[in-house]
Amino acid sequence: MQKVDCLIVGGGILGVAVARHLQSTFSHLKCLLVEKENILAKHQTGHNSGVIHAGIYYKTGSLKANLCIEGLKRIYEYCDANHLPYKKCGKLIVAVERDQLGRLDNLYRQATENGVQDIKMLDSKQIREIEPNCRGIRALHSPHTGIVDYGLLCRHFGKTFEQLGGRIVLNFEAEKFLSSGDASYPILIKSKTNSAILSRYVITCGGLQADKLAIACGGSKHPTIVPFRGDYLKLKNPNKDTLKVNGNIYPVPDPRFPFLGVHFTPRMDGSVWLGPNAVLSMKREGYGLFDFNIRDTIDHALNR
Ligand SMILES: Cc1cc2nc3c(=O)[nH]c(=O)nc-3n(C[C@H](O)[C@H](O)[C@H](O)COP(=O)(O)OP(=O)(O)OC[C@H]3O[C@@H](n4cnc5c(N)ncnc54)[C@H](O)[C@@H]3O)c2cc1C
Repeated sequence: MQKVDCLIVGGGILGVAVARHLQSTFSHLKCLLVEKENILAKHQTGHNSGVIHAGIYYKTGSLKANLCIEGLKRIYEYCDANHLPYKKCGKLIVAVERDQLGRLDNLYRQATENGVQDIKMLDSKQIREIEPNCRGIRALHSPHTGIVDYGLLCRHFGKTFEQLGGRIVLNFEAEKFLSSGDASYPILIKSKTNSAILSRYVITCGGLQADKLAIACGGSKHPTIVPFRGDYLKLKNPNKDTLKVNGNIYPVPDPRFPFLGVHFTPRMDGSVWLGPNAVLSMKREGYGLFDFNIRDTIDHALNR
């Protein structure tokens, strides 16, 4: 049976970033990453807006705020060092109603306290200088916000991990985490198809399956993931003058919802997306309008 020092579960950006960091920091360790799909980045990492956030929205002093500021810097450094494409196209958060101005001011204060670089408040004329097709009363402008193909970045992290000596096994759905009885390799990991691996340590980065993995590892039933799907529209003629979007354009977030709001996002392939909305999903990893999974639906209905 295969024996490793550390097994990482999940081949999204989190899993491969953890694996790469571990392997580069502790080169003597035998690290193995398992992914249940036949490719990396098949779920959230390959289905997001592709925005490199600058740290505007997060509470000052929180891990999220600090990691976001540091993460932006490191993503650009990594992309530069490895010749991966990105665009520092900037971002506007636009107030279109007077009652949004107070919240925009609060975001500005928070972003400044968080250390977001070169953040500025713009008036309506300055908004049009940056985005000729955008109208608003005032807007926050973050020039260092960017876009990247996170799927590409994830696969590159995976390649680097392997070059450093790590191994990736696809089509391995980790299902059971058992006590092996072996003091040196105390964890026995079994896949859905009954393959087995022994490990000293396990790190789970299971994205939308994170709660199920926590339970399988003997952790708490709570919190539980409630899956929401985000749908995007793709602009038909993004190069037409009246539709041109230069950077990311976001609304002032509505405090009633835990989402950033429907936004325009230019993509690395030149297209422009508008979205996402948030629809209660009947399948955790379902991206189609009618995707349905009976187990996920029952779990959600019973809140388990
Ligand atoms: C609509 C939307 C838009 C977003 N936009 C942005 C954005 O613009 N910018 C940004 O920074 N973030 C954005 N995010 C958030 C970002 O996409 C996620 O935070 C990030 O991708 C999470 O990565 P992950 O590795 O944790 O999860 P995932 O990418 O979902 O990866 C988890 C992996 O674990 C695997 N896995 C699960 N269970 C098992 C198992 N038992 N055995 C083996 N493998 C398993 C899955 O198959 C999957 O590949 C967005 C998210 C959504 C939903």
